[in-house]
Amino acid sequence: MTDPASPLGGLPALSAATLHGPLLEQTGAFRGNALLLTGPARVGRRALALAVAAQHNCSGVRGMYGEACGTCPSCRALAAGGHPDVLLVEPRATTTTGKAARRRIIPIGAVLEGRDKGRDYEVHVYEFLEVRPTFRRRVVVVNGAEFLGQEAANALLKLVEEPPHGALFVFIAEDVRSVLPTIVSRSGRLSVPPVADRALEFALAQAGVSPDPHLVAFAAGRAGVLAEHVTVLAALAGAADFTRALEEGLLPALDAASALEKHWDAAWHPEALRFAWRYLPPPARARADTALEALQEALEAYANPALSFQVFALRLREALGSA
Ligand SMILES: [Zn+2]
Repeated sequence: MTDPASPLGGLPALSAATLHGPLLEQTGAFRGNALLLTGPARVGRRALALAVAAQHNCSGVRGMYGEACGTCPSCRALAAGGHPDVLLVEPRATTTTGKAARRRIIPIGAVLEGRDKGRDYEVHVYEFLEVRPTFRRRVVVVNGAEFLGQEAANALLKLVEEPPHGALFVFIAEDVRSVLPTIVSRSGRLSVPPVADRALEFALAQAGVSPDPHLVAFAAGRAGVLAEHVTVLAALAGAADFTRALEEGLLPALDAASALEKHWDAAWHPEALRFAWRYLPPPARARADTALEALQEALEAYANPALSFQVFALRLREALGSA
């Protein structure tokens, strides 16, 4: 669990209150059983959910937005990553074989003792809610509500309607339309907007990182991107180098393809490449996108990586009109 006061990981300057203060005003006053926070990935939804958990357990003096004090025993426990009243439920991205799962899911085993017991989830929700809160309120954060299987969602609904010991559920999703309607209808909904560029620049400056305009543009208001600024900047540079090399000729393009393969980061490179192509005319961008999707499919299907990247470079040269 991360420190709710520093959603930026290595960049501690901006608190959830600075990023999403007005939302905290609403969540602090919330009296229902379940909240649904929607917004783009990495915009800071998880940090906000933890800030809500902090609010509902804090015994100290609140800040200007009603945010948790940060210094009481509950706030300190959350900052240390071991709050006894907060359970974070997330989909598992890997299968038992260790291969990346194509479809992420939160299984019934996350909610109830069952087939998955002892395998995927150490503590399931029912078990967690049987215990009285140590501080004030048990909080279950479901990060990825769109990945709740029907069975798991049904099992959760009973708890959401009558939460033991007045527990609070915080569901997180990218798009409300991808969440089961039974969950949506029982939740108070809040959308978490992107943060202004100036706030991101401020966070970087506070952390002693030069506010690279490309990084800020790429982040597009997603504070979570800044937490991985070193990795992201490397991916942006790699994508720009690769795209430049495509135009320099066939051999430079193939060399660049092998360099890209060596440093490929599936989490960031696809988006960094699309960012490098953002000023292309739409038809070229669409062709480049298709080539990128084909590469991703090939990699997922365990095709020969070296060959896949070479094919990618050739297709891109065609897409960009450099072939
Ligand atoms: Zn506190």
